[in-house]
Amino acid sequence: MTDYVRNFNDGSSAERDILGGKGADLAEMVRLGLPVPPGFTITTDVCRHHLAHGAPPPELASQVARHVALLERAAGRAFGDADDPLLVSVRSGAAVSMPGMMDTVLDVGLNEETVRGLAARTGDERFALDSYRRLVQMFGETVLGVPQELYGAALDDLVRETGVGRDVDLSAPSLRLLVDRFLEITVAHGDRPFPQDPREQLDLAVRAVLDSWSSERARLYRRHHGIADDLGTAVNVQAMVFGNLGPRSGAGVAFTRDPATGQLGLYGDYLPNAQGEDVVSGVRDAVPLARLRELDEAAFLRLRSVMHGLERHYRDMCDIEFTIEQGRLWILQTRVGKRTPAAAFQIAADLVEEGSIDLDEALRRVSGDQLAQLLHPSFDPGAPRTLLTRGVAASPGAAVGRVVFDSAAAVARAAQGEAVVLVRRETRPEDLPGMLAATGILTARGGKTSHAAVVARGLGRACICGAGDLDVDPDSRRMTVRGGPVVQEGDLVSIDGGTGEVFLGEVPVAGSVVARWFDGEAVDGDLVDAVARLVRHADAVRTLGVRTNADNAEDAARAVRLGAEGIGLCRTEHMFLGERRTLVQRLILADSDAERDAALADLLPLQRADFRELFAAMDGKPVTIRLIDPPLHEFLPAERDTEDERVLAALRRMHEDNPMLGLRGVRLAIAVPGLVAMQTRAILEAADDHGSSGGVVEPEIMVPLVATAAELASVRSEIEHVADTVAVERGRSVAYRVGAMVELPRAALTADRIAEHAAFFSFGTNDLTQTTWGLSRDDTEATVVRRYLDLGILARSPFETIDVDGVGALVRTAVEKARAARPGIGLGVCGEHGGDPESIRFFAQAGLDYVSCSPFRVPVARLEAGRAAI
Ligand code: ADP
Ligand code: MG
Ligand code: MG
Repeated sequence: MTDYVRNFNDGSSAERDILGGKGADLAEMVRLGLPVPPGFTITTDVCRHHLAHGAPPPELASQVARHVALLERAAGRAFGDADDPLLVSVRSGAAVSMPGMMDTVLDVGLNEETVRGLAARTGDERFALDSYRRLVQMFGETVLGVPQELYGAALDDLVRETGVGRDVDLSAPSLRLLVDRFLEITVAHGDRPFPQDPREQLDLAVRAVLDSWSSERARLYRRHHGIADDLGTAVNVQAMVFGNLGPRSGAGVAFTRDPATGQLGLYGDYLPNAQGEDVVSGVRDAVPLARLRELDEAAFLRLRSVMHGLERHYRDMCDIEFTIEQGRLWILQTRVGKRTPAAAFQIAADLVEEGSIDLDEALRRVSGDQLAQLLHPSFDPGAPRTLLTRGVAASPGAAVGRVVFDSAAAVARAAQGEAVVLVRRETRPEDLPGMLAATGILTARGGKTSHAAVVARGLGRACICGAGDLDVDPDSRRMTVRGGPVVQEGDLVSIDGGTGEVFLGEVPVAGSVVARWFDGEAVDGDLVDAVARLVRHADAVRTLGVRTNADNAEDAARAVRLGAEGIGLCRTEHMFLGERRTLVQRLILADSDAERDAALADLLPLQRADFRELFAAMDGKPVTIRLIDPPLHEFLPAERDTEDERVLAALRRMHEDNPMLGLRGVRLAIAVPGLVAMQTRAILEAADDHGSSGGVVEPEIMVPLVATAAELASVRSEIEHVADTVAVERGRSVAYRVGAMVELPRAALTADRIAEHAAFFSFGTNDLTQTTWGLSRDDTEATVVRRYLDLGILARSPFETIDVDGVGALVRTAVEKARAARPGIGLGVCGEHGGDPESIRFFAQAGLDYVSCSPFRVPVARLEAGRAAI
């Protein structure tokens, strides 16, 4: 027969899957001999059975009865006993912590009869009635579906009528009155009246906890955190201990280290004369844990030694719930405590220092996401703030600035030295100048991989996308939130790209010392030391290289300071923006070879100068330069913005229904004579110039959107021809390599053939994802992808985290074929995924040589590459 119920003294923290986190750690504490009230755990099997069949397994009732009897013996009192009743708590607890998502009911077992027994035994009628009213309320809310406000309002009314200041000051007769009112509320608004039979209370409470697994908020939480819906929760039934039994009693929470900073010490809150729920709900102000020493020194010292013991045992920061009943300490819960990113690094490094874990383990305990948060400025946590609305946390960082509604206004105000937040319904490529000028970006539409999000992350700007409540009206230069205030252009807002919160007015910002340290500044402090230690260890163990995506010397130099080992992607089209756009337009509109050649000739020196600067900034490190990729008509103005007949004609001629799959990448290189030659010449001449001034560089020329080996062979021979010419002109040859960007399924599948012409491959996982899924990122992210995520059809966006099964399989195939055809071939990845922690892990496993990401993600990639290697 399956054991659906397990005593606390029969289990350990290794059994989280079956006992849930809370139950497993309670069992562990019993094993350690800590003072834990006795109890038992109904296993997660029961919840899974309940999910599958709509009811718990039939054997459960008798197994619970047997364990209640055992519990009665251990506690020395009986459930429902009229003179000395046993009361229990019924507590949820899944294997994965889901704080605040599921239900717990305290004081189960009280009724009209046992409440008198409890009063007589303790000699404290007030306490007994206080416990009873708590039970009726919690039971009513969580089991019988009574709206929470009703009890709260009744309590407030009574506190007012009696003229006492707080609920703890209510007299026994007042509490009796309160219980009666609560019982009436329950009859009027509950699914049924409050049950007087203790065993029925217990069964219904267990049922309610099982049901809470499937509540709307629990589902939403799981979706958000990628937790499977079929894990199920355990239910813990535990003898009550009473923190509300007078002034020598109380309840609290404690942390073995500061969960905000990681510093060693005793942190937490204590609330005298209260049950556990009061501490978190904030009904009364708790006192700092240190004050407990003055209130009850013996209990304090006992607690302190338990805390030290737990920390030594778990070799990590622990968070503890405890209750003191008339001077006696009881431990009700422990777990490895949640912490801020700063605390995570501090604690991991300190534990290494203290000799309790090694550096590999320390690296496992921090993450690239945490490091990313530490690299961005953040709002001063203590500062007051007024929330305006929320959106998707698209690019972390805290930004304060004046609202502007278009790129031009952003540029103009920024030129005056003002900090601005660019607010758009969504952004487009032409908003780039405004995005560059802004400290933060806020959009009403789009998600984490919308244009705004991708560009903002690349630029290191704070960004919130898809703030759906926001009605942006650029024409009247204002925005509103339904039912909220009107925000005009020039008003101050503060946005937190790490949380997605938009605040009215200015919230004070604190800069990131960690970012300054990475950037080479001489800053010090415990946190910087901790981060440095772990990142150095990551560098020492990782086999995956880290390059950066950079198109200019400034970004390249920053990335090198941040640890980049080369450029994995220089997008040459970014060199054609701004005033150079007109040169590209001349090229597009050219009617004759002569006109075209003249336009190309004008572009050449500009490109050459760019590359020279880039090579200087990279100082001998590898530089991969991609030939121009986007369709050329992207460089023309929009139809509505021009009256120039020539431009309009060109727009009509070049119109494509599906530009993503149109004339771009290598197709463009083949279709527009002179383009590849100009770019190659600029690259090689710049490399030669760099070499003759004492520098070293072997540029890697990358051909985008290759589908077939013949395309690459064709462009390659043109490149070789130019190289030969330049060598003759310059009197010496310049070393370079030619490679392909692998971003079409066909390229991946025929990687062996393409590899015959390629010295290296770089996986362009953005396009490879689009073309593998047949999903246009810009068109589907806010619609199809978001909807699929909501419905659970997708667990995560393939544009954010590499789709291992599909796109990943293509990558693996290509790696295998490429290495078989050309063993020394260089293999990297340069899509957005190169900066995504989980994807980095995959790329390391797939055996790539490096990932390339935006400069700001370089430290994150270093850390994650290290984590992937241990
Ligand atoms: P959560 O998972 O929301 O923290 P818990 O099951 O831990 O819910 O219970 C909520 C509160 O009730 C906790 O503060 C805990 O200390 C208190 N509590 C739970 N069981 C008991 C008990 N047997 N005796 C006294 N207090 C309890
Ligand atoms: Mg708890
Ligand atoms: Mg691409």
